[in-house]
Amino acid sequence: MTLTGTERLAAEAEKLGCGVKRGEPLAGHTTFRIGGACDVMITPDSVESLSRLVLLAREYGVRTLVLGKGSNMLCADEGFRGAVLLIGKPLDDISVEGDIIRAGAGAPLILVCLAAFEAGLSGLEFAYGIPGTIGGGVYMNAGAYGGEMKDVLTSVTVIDREGKLHTYGADELDLSYRHSRFCGSDDIIVSAEMRLTRGEKSDIEARMDDFMTRRKDKQPLNFPSAGSTFKRPEGDFAGRLIQESGLRGYTVGGAQVSEKHCGFVVNKGGATCADVMAVIEYVRKTVQEKTGVLLECEVKIIK
Ligand SMILES: Cc1cc2nc3c(=O)[nH]c(=O)nc-3n(C[C@H](O)[C@H](O)[C@H](O)COP(=O)(O)OP(=O)(O)OC[C@H]3O[C@@H](n4cnc5c(N)ncnc54)[C@H](O)[C@@H]3O)c2cc1C
Repeated sequence: MTLTGTERLAAEAEKLGCGVKRGEPLAGHTTFRIGGACDVMITPDSVESLSRLVLLAREYGVRTLVLGKGSNMLCADEGFRGAVLLIGKPLDDISVEGDIIRAGAGAPLILVCLAAFEAGLSGLEFAYGIPGTIGGGVYMNAGAYGGEMKDVLTSVTVIDREGKLHTYGADELDLSYRHSRFCGSDDIIVSAEMRLTRGEKSDIEARMDDFMTRRKDKQPLNFPSAGSTFKRPEGDFAGRLIQESGLRGYTVGGAQVSEKHCGFVVNKGGATCADVMAVIEYVRKTVQEKTGVLLECEVKIIK
């Protein structure tokens, strides 16, 4: 019997001691709770294993998708043909040295924020409440309330398509609004280093609490979503334009323009990727007709 490339990769991953799940539904790994099964999901147990898997995937001609917390993704109902590399728990070390904090790509942003707070370090408060990983945060240059990863990152270490480790300094990261040099590249982020500043723990905590309260007040956190569906257009807000265009509550199947915050498309229950795509397309078309602005998706669409 001839094994497919994906099956060979899964077998090698098992030999390396990595977690391997075949036919794993992506809905269980995305905050939208949407997405069919992938052929195989591999959780690398170390940077060395990840490096080996990158090389083997290339050799066997297997498509790969890097997944953090899946909080900025809309995955196809048909799932993903190939291997999903889940960057999570084994690659989630967090350490603090002076005013430097280092974190593995799989570390949840919220835990990195808490580690900074515990160490009396300020600068990451903005990220408290962003439900992604360090890897996803770097990739997206995640930001909120006037802060972004760009403000704190000093270097990022990746595995490149040759399976080699490479460290980029802050000036090489090409960070701008929801963009980094890693968007569209084959590099897999394995860790990041951030420089923070000393601060009063009570002030840091107050800022984190304030941002969390604002999120809970403004965002539809009671329904699955991927956060802001669209990027902020120059000089305006996607949510405002969507509301002005009369689209609050616009629904297709289980997907809806949130009634609480028009910048979010939410899964009201049983939404498919096709439902969300239909809402996105209708919103883009209508907002362009009514306001002249063509909204750009912030959410990554994975097919
Ligand atoms: C309720 C809610 C609120 C949100 N609020 C904010 C907010 O305030 N600000 C904000 O910026 N975002 C926000 N988001 C969006 C999301 O949390 C961020 O974009 C986050 O940084 C994504 O991280 P992730 O680990 O979930 O990435 P994923 O969704 O898993 O992946 C996103 C992209 O990054 C790539 N990627 C992930 N990890 C790696 C890696 N290690 N190496 C290479 N590529 C990688 C993926 O392939 C994909 O293309 C919100 C989302 C939700 C659901």
